[in-house]
Amino acid sequence: SEQMKIVLIGGGSVGKSCMVSMFIQEKFLEDYDPTIAETYEKTLKVDDIPCKLEIIDTAGQEEYRSVRDKYIKLGEGFLLVFSVISRSSFIESKNLHEAIQRAQKLNHLQVPAVTVANKTDLQEARTVSTEEGKDLAQKYSSTYIETSAKNNVNVREAFEQIVREVRKS
Ligand code: GDP
Ligand code: MG
Repeated sequence: SEQMKIVLIGGGSVGKSCMVSMFIQEKFLEDYDPTIAETYEKTLKVDDIPCKLEIIDTAGQEEYRSVRDKYIKLGEGFLLVFSVISRSSFIESKNLHEAIQRAQKLNHLQVPAVTVANKTDLQEARTVSTEEGKDLAQKYSSTYIETSAKNNVNVREAFEQIVREVRKS
């Protein structure tokens, strides 16, 4: 049956581990160890077809180019996460889109990445607008989705979206 490797990538503290935890266990973890990189498995039905996901939650070390590129080679689909309360994570997500596109060119691959704007529950602290997020996603031919891992808004949808795009690719 169908199986795919999905890599969550993004700046530190944007909520990658919380998204995975909410998706897998329906729990919001307030303090997840930021240094832990883990792989999880979950089978879900998308458009009535079951798909076994291997979810790779990356951690801090992806600042090192070699480690980052290793994850980029591994992924059949990416959730590229930034936080709407962090401009620096927004800038970092551009760098990651660039790195993914470079790696794909090199390997003659076309790997989809969904751009995820997380922490949308923190409206007052928001420093990246929806429009900016959409523009960035469009620049890299990526779908854009806004989530709150804390309130479980659009988390499942983000995973479903990347499954659909991997199927099409
Ligand atoms: P990671 O480094 O990308 O894995 O980030 P974490 O998942 O460890 O989250 C970093 C911090 O942001 C933690 O304190 C989380 O509780 C918090 N956090 C994650 N997602 C959200 C969210 O959607 N809303 C809010 N308000 N906080 C979040
Ligand atoms: Mg983490």
